[in-house]
Amino acid sequence: MDGAAPAHLTQVTDGATAEEAFVAEVRAFLAGALTPDLREAGRQTLGVHADIAACRIWHRRLYERGWIAPAWPRQWGGTGWTAQQRFLFDRECARNDAPILFATGLRSLGPLLIEMGTPEQQGRYIHRILSGQDIWCQGFSEPGAGSDLAAISTRAVREGDDYVVNGAKIWTTGAHFSDQMFAIVRTADGERRQQGLTFLLIDMRSPGLTVAPIPGLAGEHEFNQVFFDGVRVPAANRVGAENDGWSVAKRLMQLARSNNTPPAMVRRVLLRAALAAAGQGADLDPALRRRLAGLMIELEAFENLELAALSAGRPRLGDQLGPSMLKMIGSELHQRVAELALEIAGPTAIASLAALGLAGEAVDAGARSMAKHLAVRAATIYSGSSETQRNVIAQALIGRS
Ligand SMILES: Cc1cc2nc3c(=O)[nH]c(=O)nc-3n(C[C@H](O)[C@H](O)[C@H](O)COP(=O)(O)OP(=O)(O)OC[C@H]3O[C@@H](n4cnc5c(N)ncnc54)[C@H](O)[C@@H]3O)c2cc1C
Repeated sequence: MDGAAPAHLTQVTDGATAEEAFVAEVRAFLAGALTPDLREAGRQTLGVHADIAACRIWHRRLYERGWIAPAWPRQWGGTGWTAQQRFLFDRECARNDAPILFATGLRSLGPLLIEMGTPEQQGRYIHRILSGQDIWCQGFSEPGAGSDLAAISTRAVREGDDYVVNGAKIWTTGAHFSDQMFAIVRTADGERRQQGLTFLLIDMRSPGLTVAPIPGLAGEHEFNQVFFDGVRVPAANRVGAENDGWSVAKRLMQLARSNNTPPAMVRRVLLRAALAAAGQGADLDPALRRRLAGLMIELEAFENLELAALSAGRPRLGDQLGPSMLKMIGSELHQRVAELALEIAGPTAIASLAALGLAGEAVDAGARSMAKHLAVRAATIYSGSSETQRNVIAQALIGRS
């Protein structure tokens, strides 16, 4: 391979680069598969995923095309794309308002099971994650355990071939429509609180499991509280060793944080804000132009960081620090972009305008930018707050010095 041009620069017969040919192939697929209702669901997305009905349809279409899990190893159902192709695919999806999938299984549990699951778990769950038959939610946080996750007190006691689980989880996104949950529970009281935790896969239809909704700031129903009252979980559903759930959960969080805020999603909000500014003639305002340009530069830097993390040969970004940096930079940038979009919307973002009967396209767009701004406030909290990420990064630096 010495001296060979990178694949994305290779000329193909019609004169286009392989990269251009790839983008053309993606665009052709999106043009047919992304029906107007799916695009509308994509445009209306406020939080971390689109309307669940649209997610299911879009998931199925990507699965049938073989493009549902670009980041997975090819032998497990991945596409075999280069990092650059994965990046371009995400960008095209965002440009075309594709729904953002509810991807807990695809983003974190699937890759975890590929690395750490038993052959039986892989056989039972992997295909169902790929096909969208099973939707997974994450049961980590509890009323007394968020950033301080080791404080978990939901208990599991071994009885024969089962664990019997009692306790409660909170802020569980999508629990109300999920088929399965992965969770960490306490199975022993170790010397350190991180010891004595165990990672379990729990069927959401188990007797004794109940789900109660928690309405979000923007009025949406995304998260829930989940109660366990004598819920039996087969011991075969344990990932890793009993009492070693902390290291399993840490690995899962690394996998999940690496792409929690796709740059393409931020780009979509920024481009829409720029268009709205242009529509009002505000794009000539030098202060606004400076801010738009500044955010665009930050977005380009974020995209490059993500691309570096996706690319082979950059292990430093692929280990503990990369996921934390991406999670923190992406979520904070997303918030600043949503804030600017809100400012551009101006008075049209005041929710009560709609209530006063002042309907119209501008009022709708304004209301959406307010709802988006509120929804994105959560991005620096979920999957580990920004403060937690800074602690991780600082700790790694101190540990290395
Ligand atoms: C939209 C949304 C969806 C979520 N979905 C899920 C889900 O599906 N499954 C799940 O398990 N959880 C979920 N969570 C919960 C999320 O993981 C927790 O909210 C998060 O870990 C913070 O925990 P906490 O809410 O208990 O806040 P706390 O831990 O009480 O933190 C409060 C504040 O103190 C700061 N802080 C805490 N400790 C430190 C420290 N050592 N140093 C510096 N600052 C610190 C935090 O950064 C934060 O600003 C979700 C949360 C949100 C907002």
